[in-house]
Amino acid sequence: MRGWLRLTVVMAMGLWACVVPVDAPESALAESAAEVSEGPDLARRNVHWTEGPESVWIGRWYLYGTSQKGGPDLVEYRGHDTEPGAHVPCLVVPHEDERSAFAVAMRVLHERPVRVIRIEQAGERNIRLGHSLFDPNRITTAKGARASAERLNRGRVEERDVQAAQALGRSLLRHLDSCQRPIIALHNNTARPSRGDGRNFSVRTYAEGGAEAASAAQMEGNPRIFEDEDPDDFVLITRPELEPLVPGWTNLVVQAAEPVPDGSLSAVLAEDSYLNIEAQHGHHGWQYGVVTWVLDGMQGELRTPAP
Ligand SMILES: [Zn+2]
Repeated sequence: MRGWLRLTVVMAMGLWACVVPVDAPESALAESAAEVSEGPDLARRNVHWTEGPESVWIGRWYLYGTSQKGGPDLVEYRGHDTEPGAHVPCLVVPHEDERSAFAVAMRVLHERPVRVIRIEQAGERNIRLGHSLFDPNRITTAKGARASAERLNRGRVEERDVQAAQALGRSLLRHLDSCQRPIIALHNNTARPSRGDGRNFSVRTYAEGGAEAASAAQMEGNPRIFEDEDPDDFVLITRPELEPLVPGWTNLVVQAAEPVPDGSLSAVLAEDSYLNIEAQHGHHGWQYGVVTWVLDGMQGELRTPAP
């Protein structure tokens, strides 16, 4: 626990200071948000992280940058011994304000060959493209991006901004292509309703009568809810076959084969292999425990029998 605290302090003081925001190239500072630059060499910064018995060099690469000054950008963190597009587990953190999820991802990156992929724009949850705000976890389809923007912008949405958001979403999906399956997303939620739309998001949201009930598979015992577990801490999987990867003591949702098509990663990857680890803000230990358990299982080291 003390190590974790120290790590957190190091991250707060060291990492955030080291990760200097990289400005887009001059030529790319065009007015249109739809104009984009792409490629791992667009810009890069190295993050030298000295926590632990050995120093680890971790790079921060742009995968995709909108031409708009200040982002949003699709960014990847990976060790210098991990090749671009490597077939390793990928940890996706779509919401930049979910800092404890990102801290967990960076701790895992310090210990294992993974790629950490995040959408970044000034630390904010929602990204701004042109004149429109978007939820970065609703941009993989034009319909999802438009609906998200209409909700966040009181109905006023520019189609050009929707296209820019969808281009960012497409780039995210393209970069996830080479990842080992399942793709792992890390999110945080809160104990109080404050998820942008006032919902109190938890595993119960997927139970009968909940806002996401239509996206849960119609199966006996789904979602799996333990009364003595925090409902904010749960795992979502897109296929029942992924269940052996998940610890038997966690709240679990098996997503429907055809979930509500809202432009989120879980919906667009419904037929792929995807696993989302949701934890309440600050529940580092729980989220770290689950993600390392899943990664062990992906290496063939299953620690739990299928219930
Ligand atoms: Zn999130």
